[in-house]
Amino acid sequence: MGETLIFEKSKRGRRACFLTKHRVEGRRLRKLIPERYLRRKALSLPQLSEPDLVRHFTRLSQENMGVDSHFYPLGSCTMKYNPKINESLAALPGFSGLHPYQDQDTIQGTLHLLYQTARLLQEISGMSKVALQPSAGAHGELTSLLMMKSFYEVKKEVRDRVLVPDSAHGTNPASSHLANFQVITVKSNNVGEIDLRDLSHKMSPRAVCLMITVPNTLGLFEREILKVSQIVHRHGGFLYLDGANLNAFLGITRPADFGVDIMHFNLHKTFSTPHGGGGPGSGPVGASDELSSYLPLPLVGKNKDGYYLDHDRPKSIGRMRSFYGNIAVILKAYCYIRTLGRESLREVSESAVLNANYLKEKLKKYYQLPFDRTCMHEFVLSAKDKKEKGVRALDIAKRLLDLGFHPPTIYFPLIVEEALMIEPTETESKETLDSFISAMIQIAREIEDEPSLVREAPHKMPVGRLDEVRAAREPKFTFFNKET
Ligand SMILES: *Cc1c(COP(=O)(O)O)cnc(C)c1O
Repeated sequence: MGETLIFEKSKRGRRACFLTKHRVEGRRLRKLIPERYLRRKALSLPQLSEPDLVRHFTRLSQENMGVDSHFYPLGSCTMKYNPKINESLAALPGFSGLHPYQDQDTIQGTLHLLYQTARLLQEISGMSKVALQPSAGAHGELTSLLMMKSFYEVKKEVRDRVLVPDSAHGTNPASSHLANFQVITVKSNNVGEIDLRDLSHKMSPRAVCLMITVPNTLGLFEREILKVSQIVHRHGGFLYLDGANLNAFLGITRPADFGVDIMHFNLHKTFSTPHGGGGPGSGPVGASDELSSYLPLPLVGKNKDGYYLDHDRPKSIGRMRSFYGNIAVILKAYCYIRTLGRESLREVSESAVLNANYLKEKLKKYYQLPFDRTCMHEFVLSAKDKKEKGVRALDIAKRLLDLGFHPPTIYFPLIVEEALMIEPTETESKETLDSFISAMIQIAREIEDEPSLVREAPHKMPVGRLDEVRAAREPKFTFFNKET
């Protein structure tokens, strides 16, 4: 990295701002604080002038790629451009200054918006009731699984299994384990959809649900979804929808119409909010009539006196986290949905699907396309045949960085060897898509003519090939400190 640590730049006595000496009623602050709480040695914070400080962080921010600086075609995790106005609206002091213990009479405006957001999500999905509390998609999965568990406990039915397709996102089996269910994997067939024969074989009165992603993580719509739903329901189980890919069919179809009983939304993917790096997110759960009384506490209710937090729901699984959810993310989703309205929301999905198909058609001459049919909002290429030249999907991803593009998701879904999973999203112009196509074609040519260029990429980045696993397993939090 060219940029040194801020501690290395520090020079004793430099300041970005000067504070006046604090006095309360003429007494120095340190005289007001009990001796045992006073710091004995000054904190060794870096000391810099304001311009040096600003330049340091500005340079660091430019050594990364984000959706505000570069095209960001991840697959599965919708990384769309999020209009800045939603940030501004959610940050209005009337929202950001609220305290969660405030009296309900004083937060009627916010409760109104929460109530309305739940209603909008109900309309979009066809679900009977939506709870906004869960903090992200995976948290919504866990919430839903606990709800179904309670449902069968009340009915005194022993169901200890969850069916998960082999193309599923890793959070699906992880949440199932966390809720103490045994995970049964259902195979995909040769057209990339759920294998009905395998599903029929594995679905049983022991299974709580099938967790399905529509369109699936190959970007393909499950054309047999009605049959899938029949098979699951015939055995008294529920159809659970992982709603992470909702960006593909907003206003075109509704999960309730194809048999979904319970689902989560990823507000931070489909409905605005920059995410990545761990948050913040919001994973509301929508449920059918049969399951809605199990939704977590509290829901926002409405009566003649106004809005209130409804804790009086005896069948509920209870709280899934503190307070009411990540309110700012929910507010951004509300702004996003209301800004677009019914017609434009549908256009979001239509454009996302069109953009993905445009890229797929242009790139399939240069890269293997394992499932060659109309895709939804994303598609999966395979770099399997590039292995002959000693090049892998990871190398292509690294070379894309040199050419100014954030790479797509690689090695997922697991059922495609050397997978490159591309989701352009609806907001990208044709010019941006064309420049990405040119970069991918250039890389395909380099693999033929000069594979080492790709194999050894990136050549222009501040860092090249990091040991990502080690960074996560053995993080170093040591401060650089000249004085000690
Ligand atoms: C992102 C994603 C999840 C998990 O959602 P989080 O909000 O990241 O917890 C689950 N399934 C699919 C298909 C996803 O893309």
